[in-house]
Amino acid sequence: MKDDTLWQAILGEIELSISRGSYVTWFKNTRVLRTEGNVIVIGVGNIFTKQQLEVKYRPMLDSLLLKYAPEGTRLDFKIYAVPARSNNSSKQTTFSPKRPTPNQTTFTTNTPKNSFSQSYRKGLNETYTFDSFIVGSNNELAYAAGQAISLSPGKKYNPMFVYGGVGLGKTHLIQAVGNGILVNNPKARVVYITSEQFVQEFLQAIRYKKISDFTAHYRSADVLIVDDLQFIAGKEKTQEEFFHTFNALHQANKQIIISSDKPPKAIPTLEERLRSRFEWGMIVDIGTPDFETRSAILQNKAIQHEQDLPPDVVEFLANRFHNNIRELEGALNQLLAFCEMRNLKPSISVATGVFGTSPGRPKRISSKQIIEKTAKHYQVDLIDLLSPRRDKDIVVPRQVAMYLLRSELKLSFPKIAQELGRKDHTTAMHSVEKIQKELHFDSILKEQVDEIKERLYA
Ligand code: ADP
Ligand code: MG
Repeated sequence: MKDDTLWQAILGEIELSISRGSYVTWFKNTRVLRTEGNVIVIGVGNIFTKQQLEVKYRPMLDSLLLKYAPEGTRLDFKIYAVPARSNNSSKQTTFSPKRPTPNQTTFTTNTPKNSFSQSYRKGLNETYTFDSFIVGSNNELAYAAGQAISLSPGKKYNPMFVYGGVGLGKTHLIQAVGNGILVNNPKARVVYITSEQFVQEFLQAIRYKKISDFTAHYRSADVLIVDDLQFIAGKEKTQEEFFHTFNALHQANKQIIISSDKPPKAIPTLEERLRSRFEWGMIVDIGTPDFETRSAILQNKAIQHEQDLPPDVVEFLANRFHNNIRELEGALNQLLAFCEMRNLKPSISVATGVFGTSPGRPKRISSKQIIEKTAKHYQVDLIDLLSPRRDKDIVVPRQVAMYLLRSELKLSFPKIAQELGRKDHTTAMHSVEKIQKELHFDSILKEQVDEIKERLYA
């Protein structure tokens, strides 16, 4: 058990530091087979993986071993037959990040004829539900749209297109929609797939002359969820296939849900006709969570692991890991694994021991810093920002500063008004609301706000 936890902790870190493609290819199907003295035997799927792990990833693995394992521990890689995956068989009691278990359609020369027919629902991770999804200002719109869809798929927002950076909860949310639909209608054919898998399956289908199975499978879905659509960019044939699937489903009022790291407009080499289809429905973004949301997520994850995190540890982690929830979760897993290995309780001193004392981001930024950095970003004078002037070039920066005082420091509206030399707190309230709303569709504004935040915490 312990070695499994150790390996999961190592995997958690690796997942954060290499590309998703590499992770899936080399690490995803590995597992601890047994322990022989101080050697942990890791099972891998084939000789290529074995070589990669032994050569290319050796230094990385060695340094992670030093971090997590007792001195002298070694890894040995053995080829083993990867068992067919089943969602239920992997009840996780360790601190491994709960990853989705994507559709594992492997095509080999002896692929059974109906390789597609059994795979409904397979791609969904049962733990990705609305219940376990914490709602904050960064994701509330996407959450609301997702909930509406789970209640009446195919009716309201079709397609739903969710975009946002890495590790911000896109997969979790779109899977929650799929799981939600299944709760209401257990017979619904919910198909979840990443666009990479879609491309792979399509190529394999061509190769093994199973195009009609492929087409039939995807077109018979009631709900098609395509994750990380950006990987379809530049793949013309697959895009064409996807376009036809999209049309067939859309015409039949079947729900389509898509995620991507960028809005359709910003995905290069996405065919125009697909792009315009995506604009038929609802496009929502998921942004970076604020401190409060990060804390709530941490507490929630800790509870899932049946662990009690003291408030100062929550604050420490939420302050330290701010860009991305996967990273935040990775840090929590790392801390919990560290504690388990040494029989410790999570505390602030253990946390500083693991992550160091000098945070990547100062614990507290001040109102003054926010106002100054905002003025600087927009190249306006601080004096003007604090003055009653209402020229357009001053008004927006002032609203942004108010927004940031709210989102980053959680100041009350009267306090925000006061910081900007205003008497009336309703102006502050309206400004914050206005920016909050506009951030959802104004990508330039969003970039500006993100940039100011980056500077604040740099
Ligand atoms: P993305 O698909 O955007 O890269 P994921 O959906 O994989 O991100 O999320 C990364 C991790 O963070 C997952 O373990 C997920 O459960 C967790 N997570 C993301 N957003 C939330 C949230 N709002 N509440 C709870 N957990 C979240
Ligand atoms: Mg994802």
